[in-house]
Amino acid sequence: MPNTVNTDHFWMPFTANRQFKSRPRMLVSASGMYYKTDDGREILDGTAGLWCSNAGHCHPKIVAAIQKQAATMDFAPMFQMGHPLAFEAASALVSIAPEGLNRVFFCNDGSEAVDTALKIALAYHQVRGNGLRTRLIGRERGYHGVGFGGIAVGGIAGNRKNFGATLAGVDHLRHPLDISRNAFSRGLPEHGAEIADELEQRLLALHDPATVAAVIVEPLQGSTGVILPPKGYLQKLRAICDKHGILLIFDEVITGFGRLGASFAADYFGVVPDMICCAKGLTNAAVPMGAVIVRQDIHDAFMSASAENAIELAHGYTYTGHPLAAAAVIAAIDVYKGENLFDRAAAMAPYFEDAAHSLKGLPYVKDVRNLGLVCGIELEPIAGKPAARAFDVFLKCFWEQGVLIRTTGDIIALSPPLIIDKPQIDRVFGAIGDVLKAQHATGIGSSAV
Ligand code: PMP
Repeated sequence: MPNTVNTDHFWMPFTANRQFKSRPRMLVSASGMYYKTDDGREILDGTAGLWCSNAGHCHPKIVAAIQKQAATMDFAPMFQMGHPLAFEAASALVSIAPEGLNRVFFCNDGSEAVDTALKIALAYHQVRGNGLRTRLIGRERGYHGVGFGGIAVGGIAGNRKNFGATLAGVDHLRHPLDISRNAFSRGLPEHGAEIADELEQRLLALHDPATVAAVIVEPLQGSTGVILPPKGYLQKLRAICDKHGILLIFDEVITGFGRLGASFAADYFGVVPDMICCAKGLTNAAVPMGAVIVRQDIHDAFMSASAENAIELAHGYTYTGHPLAAAAVIAAIDVYKGENLFDRAAAMAPYFEDAAHSLKGLPYVKDVRNLGLVCGIELEPIAGKPAARAFDVFLKCFWEQGVLIRTTGDIIALSPPLIIDKPQIDRVFGAIGDVLKAQHATGIGSSAV
């Protein structure tokens, strides 16, 4: 029996609230690869929730760790105080981070991780006496959360248009998606590394390089439709930042914790940034938490610049290092290691790639792009109805096929838990294929209400 939930009071995030109310989609429990709905249906999770439940849902070891901690110490103030689990959680995170990144600042989600990293970058240059370095550079179609820093460096007009001028001194590079040259590429696109040279051109033509604090990019742009870095592109960004003393920040909120078959995209690409923002898989999404993993000497710059008892970085949150979240981090990383989930994702990636590319040639499929256990399927839009086609696929997959997918504009994005097996992969892509064929035969709209 469906719940009779009162939908009059909760203002839902990033949701077509009016459409939702006409036929609410309610999840009430979860286990492993599946959600259950309020009308008792099982939904295969093709998106790891929101790119976050990498070890599958309600993992017993993570559940037990959170339950134990909730009964032991619910909260501890972290300003001028500590509790051991927060330190253990930081060490656990460092144990899977790229070499040299070994200081962790905890916050509560990806948006806070981004704003924290931007503030650390600006303050770092200040404490080293480089107060001129105040500019930040992001990318078009970059998604860095919803804080004022994140929407400023982010490159999504719709997320900024209602919120005034945001931060000053921010510039954006072009994104590297080029379907005309790279359509249906498997893995990293061949063409487009030279797009990174735009950073050097901007620095020399528009901004004195000595005024730029940091460049922030998602190694793989997820939320705006799975935009992959062309071969060599990230290496070029790294070299240009190094040349000009600019910090490079990777926003790995999506790519962290095994999504590409390595701990972080930095490892996968062999390009080590100066800071990594992470969240989501950090706790397997069981408790909200974010973190910035920082190069040791960036942290040390604050230590050597301050008097012994001074507060070095005027930044932090009531819930920084929250005990329940810290317990979840330790348990989640333990599960990732113990079950070899990152290697498992790497081993499953070729099968996932083949399944994704089996959609090539189906109606409306304009591009398929993939890496590790993430893939984007770009559809031909319907004239005058942006996003309508993909949203219809989402609705029909949910109501008729029992499969959870995610869409952004006319792009379907898939990022299943790393425990997905081959029959489940077949089911996810089979469902999308069936819906596209049905759309072709009968048009869209039957599941919309
Ligand atoms: N950065 C990236 C790359 C993200 O994908 C997201 C969320 N999808 C965020 C930041 C923001 O994370 P949160 O929603 O936890 O604030």
